[in-house]
Amino acid sequence: MAMVKIRVDLPEEHRVLYTSCLSRNGYVDVNRFIEKLPEVVLSKLDLDPRISGVLAKEDENRYKIFVNINESEEKQRFTAAHELGHYFLHRDLLDTGGRIEDRYILKAEGVSDEKEDEANRFASTFLVPLDKVKETMNSGKNDVISLAEHFGVSVIAMANRLGIPT
Ligand SMILES: [Zn+2]
Repeated sequence: MAMVKIRVDLPEEHRVLYTSCLSRNGYVDVNRFIEKLPEVVLSKLDLDPRISGVLAKEDENRYKIFVNINESEEKQRFTAAHELGHYFLHRDLLDTGGRIEDRYILKAEGVSDEKEDEANRFASTFLVPLDKVKETMNSGKNDVISLAEHFGVSVIAMANRLGIPT
């Protein structure tokens, strides 16, 4: 299986926090991770149905992530991690009061496909740690559906992570 061999690319100072949000079986608590970041506030809101998530710059060093509460739990987790990717990788693009609004397919107006791909790659490596995938597969869960359920992501996200064409 051509697994995408990329590890999550986190700033050094956040690695300890990441580990503390990672359970033994590999489930990553992305909500908890964001809540522990001093600069970022996470809110789950009843957003416009066309919007999955938003990264907004409130002020210098003050950001907000909004996630559409009407979407599935798996989708909300992926969206939160995708917005977190924009925060780590692309926040310099935002002026105070500026925002990245991701539509349902996690593409934002004015953001290049390349940057959206970067945020998606960040999200999948964040939510599905490679070493935990190997452990889980070794323990006998080998099919995409069980793995997706195990890691709390959609089947499509899991298939992408494993390098299986969707
Ligand atoms: Zn995006």
